[in-house]
This record gives sequence, structure tokens and C-alpha cells, in this order.
Amino acid sequence: MLHPKYYRRDGDRLTDQTREIVNVWLGEMDRLVASKGDTGMNFDEMFSWFTRTEFDCRCGCGYNVVKPQFLLKLDLARTFAGIPFVLNSGCRCPDHNKAVKSTSENHIIGVAADIRCNTSSNRHKVLSGLFAVGFQRIGVYRTYIHVDDNPDAPQGVFWL
Ligand SMILES: [Zn+2]
Repeated sequence: MLHPKYYRRDGDRLTDQTREIVNVWLGEMDRLVASKGDTGMNFDEMFSWFTRTEFDCRCGCGYNVVKPQFLLKLDLARTFAGIPFVLNSGCRCPDHNKAVKSTSENHIIGVAADIRCNTSSNRHKVLSGLFAVGFQRIGVYRTYIHVDDNPDAPQGVFWL
């Protein structure tokens, strides 16, 4: 049987590989966005699991400023999680954000998602995926998991 230190080393290597994949693709996405803008690419070809319209504001106004880099990370997290990510909320217009009593800008600037999730085993899968790709801001609620990539908010945080 392997000594635990070898398991630990395996885990580290796995994490490193995952982060490497994410960083390579994020670099590609940065180049693409720089040349085509946030909406200039074919989202259906680009992502395995999400369409852009899934991030439309839920009030029906059509507001959608989802950042492709965020979508890319969420798409990879979904792959690692191995279960569907059903979104309760993607982007929110400022009015709708106020209506749902949010005090943060995370959903307004297009770098946040609330993933429907209400069983302990699904929470484990979703969180494993989110952590695998390096998300730094995660909140767990009774019926959903919030994740965002707001660069102006504290990093390395997890709240309940
Ligand atoms: Zn709206």
C-alpha cells in the first residue's frame, strides 16, 4: 500500500494539471476577447455546457453582460463536477439586482452565477468542480451555491 505522502503528491499533481488546463484556456480566451470583444464569439461552439442566454437577467429585460472568461471557468467546473449546473441566476440588471435585495455588484457585472443545489451529495460535486478550476469566491445557501469572479472583491473566501 502506498504511503499517504504519495497520495498527497498525486493530489497535488492532479490539481496542478487542472489549473494548467484552466490557465491555458483562459489565456486563449483573453486573446479571443481582445480581438472580438465579449460577445463576438460563437458561444455554442465555445462552451460544452452553457448557452449565453442562460445568463440573461431573470426579470425578462434581456440584460446580459456575462464575461466569457467567467463562463469558461464555470463550463470547466461543470465538466469536473459531472452533474448539470442549473442556474437560478446569471446576470442581473441593476433594477432586478435591487429587487432581489442584493447589495453586491457581482451579478451586475456578469461574473456570477447561482447554481441550483439542494442535496448534500450534489453540493459536494458542485463545490469540487468550482474548487478544481480555482474559483476564489463561493457562498453556499440552502437551495443554491453562489460563485463569482469579481476581481474587486475579497479573494479566497467561502461563506454560508
Ligand atoms: Zn433585468
